[in-house]
Amino acid sequence: MFGWNGKLLHVNLNKGKGVADKYEAGMAKNFLGGRGFAAKILWDELKPGIDPLSPENKLVFAAGPLTGFALPSSGKLIVAAKSPLTWGYGDGNIGTFAAVHMRKAGYDAVIVEGKAQDPVVLVVRDESAEFLDAKNLWGLNSFETVRKLAELYGRTVGILCIGQGGENLVKYANIVSQEGRAGGRPGMGAVMGAKNLKAVVLIGSNELPVANPKEMKELGAEALREVLTKPNYAFWKRQGTMSTVEWSQENSVLPTHNYSEAVFKEAEAIGGFAMEKIKVSNRGCPQCNMTCGNVVKDSDRKESELDYENVAMLGSNIGLGNLRRVAALNRVADEYGLDTISLGNVLGFAMEASEKGLITEKVPWGMFKTAKALISDIAYRRGYLGNLLADGVYSASEEIGHGSNRWAMQVKGLEVSGYDCHTTPAMALSYGTCSIGAHHKDAWVISWEVKAGRKGYTAEKVDKVIELQRVRGGVFECLTVCRLPWVELGFELEWYPKLLHAATGTEMPWEALNLIGDRVLNLIRAFWVREFGKKWNSGMDVPPARWFEEPLTEGPMKGMKLDRAKYESMLHMYYGKRGWDEHGVPLKSTLNKLGLKDIAHDLGRHVKLSD
Ligand code: SF4
Repeated sequence: MFGWNGKLLHVNLNKGKGVADKYEAGMAKNFLGGRGFAAKILWDELKPGIDPLSPENKLVFAAGPLTGFALPSSGKLIVAAKSPLTWGYGDGNIGTFAAVHMRKAGYDAVIVEGKAQDPVVLVVRDESAEFLDAKNLWGLNSFETVRKLAELYGRTVGILCIGQGGENLVKYANIVSQEGRAGGRPGMGAVMGAKNLKAVVLIGSNELPVANPKEMKELGAEALREVLTKPNYAFWKRQGTMSTVEWSQENSVLPTHNYSEAVFKEAEAIGGFAMEKIKVSNRGCPQCNMTCGNVVKDSDRKESELDYENVAMLGSNIGLGNLRRVAALNRVADEYGLDTISLGNVLGFAMEASEKGLITEKVPWGMFKTAKALISDIAYRRGYLGNLLADGVYSASEEIGHGSNRWAMQVKGLEVSGYDCHTTPAMALSYGTCSIGAHHKDAWVISWEVKAGRKGYTAEKVDKVIELQRVRGGVFECLTVCRLPWVELGFELEWYPKLLHAATGTEMPWEALNLIGDRVLNLIRAFWVREFGKKWNSGMDVPPARWFEEPLTEGPMKGMKLDRAKYESMLHMYYGKRGWDEHGVPLKSTLNKLGLKDIAHDLGRHVKLSD
């Protein structure tokens, strides 16, 4: 096999042992890598109904066949597990040297199961897997942990770790690398913490297996040069995703005051141009020549890496219009290892609950000191409110009641990302049907929708959501290459089959890649249905009530809200096009057609499948 290593590493923390395992060529052909491998491994190896924080859960780090080669933005991996936040499939991607090292150590995935008796660091160095006592690291934040491990192993190795958030099982704790690159929104850090696994160090020294070395070298270099020629390149290097703040404000989709509004009076102060004034450098993932992390000096005079999502969620969504302070909250969240999207969401929820008198704690909108203290309380699960918010917005709304579930902004338990959907039905559908809950990564359809026209609930919109889910949520997440060269600079999709051919020697036109995208998305849907069984229903694909019930009161889109009946009919159109039944469950024939006959058979033992 070329491109792929053909090997997985199974690590059992109960036994303190790692065992390498070969996988069949069919796995590579049918599931490609990254998210596809993770979903297949979790389907095959997890017993349905397990507690995500129990030793039975498995944490999968997986990469794709292009990961680690010198080509645009190929330094990412996927981390996946059953999510403690949603109790469904959870994953996230991280740009990290760990991705490159894992592949060079000879593995396409590392699977961690069990629970160590005491805190440990897993050290994978080529063929060997060792365990380092981590008692002296437990309690350190993620930046300190990375620095300590870098002192031991060097600054160029791959390090993935958790902060106090993961240790204290905050349900949206993530995994952090390289002091600020983070991923695994639906609590992948908590899964790691529950296993007493403080960090994973990966050190690989082998050459990647490549089918056509000359072609790979030349094509990769040409592709990297191509990125530099794109018209938007210079502006992208200046602002990265931060210009989206101004775009979202102009188009009334900037989450503001817990998504009650979509324009923010102080948007300019937290936008891309304001960021440029305090920017000190760019940071990014390995193998990337369009590095998009904007490093700024925050209000604590420390460095913080900003992008659109963390500014929208810790800025406008909580009513904070001071960018240095937003940056400080972002840095603190990264240090604790808390997902900034979910964090901004729960803080906004707490501020609204406080304003409405549903909690006794005073949490005023935009109050920096209060927000910062509350983040610390969440990371340590300190006090009633810290502990409540550590379980996520769905759980918090269940606890405080009084109809707060109508403005608890989540789908399937995962907090909504940084785009308001009062005026954008296709984006609402994208959140509703995303494979991990309300995340924007599978189908960021909003920029297309704003241009195409927001009012319709049309078949064209459904098709666009599906098309993006295939490419972004499917192919890019399986290849584990970053989608931003394509999305932001127009780096052509035609490059990827060519690069894949050079790496693997296999012809994979987009038609074949899209089929893999559909296969993986259906497999993940089957995972959710298997977990929820009879409780599964189409309401789980519907975004929060606020967007249907409370029109915007400010900005050019004042008076607008989503139409529930039209959304539901669009959702059923989506089900039809996907080959799913009226509850959003894949038909037996759909799974069979995608080569998932064994999945259909297994799923059929948990729920009744229609033909
Ligand atoms: S564009 Fe940004 S997110 Fe993508 S690989 Fe480069 S630095 Fe990472």
